[in-house]
Amino acid sequence: MKIGVIGGGLMGLALAQRLSAQGHRVTVYERDRQVGGLTTWHDYGAFEWDKFYHVILPSDAQLIGFIRDIGLGERLCWARTLTGFYVDRQFHSMSSAVEFLRFPPVSLIGKLRLALTILYCARIDDWRRLERIPVGAWLERLGGKATYEKIWKPLLLAKLGDNYQRVSAVFIWSYIKRMFSAREGSAQKEQLGHVAGGYKTLFGRLQSVIGQAGGEIRTGVTVSRVAAAADGAGMTIECGTSAERFDKVLFTSPANVLRQVAEPGLVRDDARGREVEYLGVICMVLVTRQPLTPYYIVNIADPRIPFTGIIGMSNLVSPTQTAGLHMTFLPKYVDSNSPVLRRPDDELRHEFLEGLRLMIPDLDERGIESAVINRAIKVQPLQVLEYSSLVPSIESAHPDFFVVNTSQFTHMTLNNNEVIRAVDGFLAAYAERLAAAPRAATASVASPSPIPHPQRA
Ligand SMILES: Cc1cc2nc3c(=O)[nH]c(=O)nc-3n(C[C@H](O)[C@H](O)[C@H](O)COP(=O)(O)OP(=O)(O)OC[C@H]3O[C@@H](n4cnc5c(N)ncnc54)[C@H](O)[C@@H]3O)c2cc1C
Repeated sequence: MKIGVIGGGLMGLALAQRLSAQGHRVTVYERDRQVGGLTTWHDYGAFEWDKFYHVILPSDAQLIGFIRDIGLGERLCWARTLTGFYVDRQFHSMSSAVEFLRFPPVSLIGKLRLALTILYCARIDDWRRLERIPVGAWLERLGGKATYEKIWKPLLLAKLGDNYQRVSAVFIWSYIKRMFSAREGSAQKEQLGHVAGGYKTLFGRLQSVIGQAGGEIRTGVTVSRVAAAADGAGMTIECGTSAERFDKVLFTSPANVLRQVAEPGLVRDDARGREVEYLGVICMVLVTRQPLTPYYIVNIADPRIPFTGIIGMSNLVSPTQTAGLHMTFLPKYVDSNSPVLRRPDDELRHEFLEGLRLMIPDLDERGIESAVINRAIKVQPLQVLEYSSLVPSIESAHPDFFVVNTSQFTHMTLNNNEVIRAVDGFLAAYAERLAAAPRAATASVASPSPIPHPQRA
């Protein structure tokens, strides 16, 4: 079959790799000049690395399997890392049970309730009932008011801003579930991984295997419309004035783009006008001569600090891969409509460095080689109350058009393991439909069907 894929992030390219290996003729359309989407890379001068911080957990079985499938198993590197917490103007290591028990900002009873919250959370399977409960109320009920005010609320505010009041308990449940499975799956505590050379290595390999299998990746090409082909069977992808016909089209870009490009009636609107909302991210990447923190991640519960956390990437990635320099990522998540996302780099740089000086008063600024501001607008779908009722279905009104994107992660955190799970789940469920001859839609808008959720392994 001749298959068009919209979006050249990991979802689009993993689909393209799998489908071209099955003998389909695949064409990927990517708006940016470089593939990779949110997982793409950046030129930091002395080296290239991911634009945003990415880590692989030992429990990321689908992603690790995929990396091995494309011949990069040997390039997986693992390191033991530490986790920190910044609260009451102090850093605390939280990398072991003993350190957790010593954690001064929370009372012994508070710690017990915190531990029980996490254990309880990790054992819940019915996420649908959590969709109706606001995350703040849920955490306060489980952990008590003191722990909520001291730990959870500042974390929710840092990650979600005031949106936290509209977000359901699924948000924190899916996060704890992922972290818990990582610990269970890890032979050594806090083992975290990456691919040598960063995601650029992975995308380089994907581009070459897709090309060898006869596929084509068109970068710097924005899809402006997708519609049923003139004879009704198959689909047409339009990019400005050019148009091409495909037997099947798969859409992987964000939900707002889907609304912009899909012809009227193509996508079912079961959400009664409600739309998927996204968080955007601003991420300052500091390249320094010395490491800034001994931790891979420091969670911050302090309203004075303008970023959400500190990610000490060089505690995971050996500086031998980054020209002997150290990388630290400082992310700030904001509503995707927030004017903060459009503030000039210099202003953001200044504000973030001020925040960092509050945390590290003896920060050696002469050791900073560069401070790059990276940003992305549509990053993480906001898991508002009853979120699953507003995501687009995989199936559309046309039998030859499918949607597979991260907005369908109703009860998972946004991560690349889930991306590969979604790709493989979709291909397993729709292999026959993808191989069948194109056919015309029987109705302008087909009746709604539940979204098939790929099962967790
Ligand atoms: C700050 C940050 C930290 C993260 N940390 C981790 C981590 O530690 N571990 C982990 O596993 N994951 C992490 N992730 C998540 C990971 O980046 C995502 O899971 C992944 O990028 C999703 O890929 P995707 O292809 O579904 O979407 P995207 O990467 O968003 O790709 C969609 C593509 O569609 C393209 N597009 C949009 N409109 C059009 C159009 N009209 N025509 C053509 N193309 C179009 C876009 O340019 C984009 O390339 C992180 C993400 C961020 C932002």
